[in-house]
Amino acid sequence: MDDPRHRLPVADLDQQRRPVAEVEGAPALVGSICADCGAHAFPVHATCHHCGSDRSSPGPVASEGTVYSFTTVHVSGSGPVPYTLAYVDTQDGLRVLGRLAGGGRWRIGDRVQVTRAADQPTGWAFAAAGEPR
Ligand SMILES: [Zn+2]
Repeated sequence: MDDPRHRLPVADLDQQRRPVAEVEGAPALVGSICADCGAHAFPVHATCHHCGSDRSSPGPVASEGTVYSFTTVHVSGSGPVPYTLAYVDTQDGLRVLGRLAGGGRWRIGDRVQVTRAADQPTGWAFAAAGEPR
């Protein structure tokens, strides 16, 4: 099972911890903000995906959004299951892959917000909007 020929060249994206910043008392994901065109990216990128500039700097980029799509994972070789992964369209135009906190019944279009989640591999998750952060 641990055959080196089957390892990915980079760590599983879902297993990488990502920093979270506080913006006006609410957690926000830290991504990149382009100094030339203002485009946001997540996670941090050295080069702007919009204009190609290499003048991006880390900053808070997303704190809330709506569920674009989701699925519940029932089999994993790297951690406890089940958990729910979702693509969330954020208020600043990003589509971010992250876990949905809690075992609630989710629907496409549900409003969510970033929340700190020490029990999640990334250190954060999306929770239903209006929940305590
Ligand atoms: Zn740019």
